[in-house]
Amino acid sequence: MLTIDGFKQALRHTQTEIESQKDTLTDLDRAIGDGDHGINMSRGFEAVLSILDEDYDSLGALSKKVGMTLMSKVGGAAGPLYGSAFVKIAAAFGDAKEADFALVKEALLEGTNSIKARGKSEAGQKTMVDVWEPFALNVDEGDNYDSQLNELVQKTEDMIATKGRASYFGENSRGTIDPGALSSSILLSALMKEVG
Ligand SMILES: [Mg+2]
Repeated sequence: MLTIDGFKQALRHTQTEIESQKDTLTDLDRAIGDGDHGINMSRGFEAVLSILDEDYDSLGALSKKVGMTLMSKVGGAAGPLYGSAFVKIAAAFGDAKEADFALVKEALLEGTNSIKARGKSEAGQKTMVDVWEPFALNVDEGDNYDSQLNELVQKTEDMIATKGRASYFGENSRGTIDPGALSSSILLSALMKEVG
């Protein structure tokens, strides 16, 4: 069951993990993008940390605040994508103070749809959608979430980017993991730990 405190804990855990993998995210984005993903995500989740001490009366209220914060603090393509995902997740959670596995899964599907709509992207284009969509569609309660997420991240290595800045690299984008897929797996892993 995901509680408001659990959601906060997942966001704190995400911030810690983003910070420890900041250089990796930067290196991946330098290889097939503009090298700002580590810095952007770090800045974004630093800002998220600062809103976690406030009280929220629902999962929706917290998720909406996170979304607005990420939209305003994370630059590049990722900010609006993550931001819109959290805002749509907020709508799915609504006034609920806790969410069971089924509601979390539904919320993640909503978040996925928002990322796809905003990024005009589909699975298979070597983006964060390649983690969000298959995970949200296929995850079952009690699965080994981390191993599923890691597998999805690894699968992006072989893909050729056809969306976003990485698509300018064409064939040369093959052989590098998508940085947005990696940051997405960090976030989803932290979240699922709290869902249980
Ligand atoms: Mg970038």
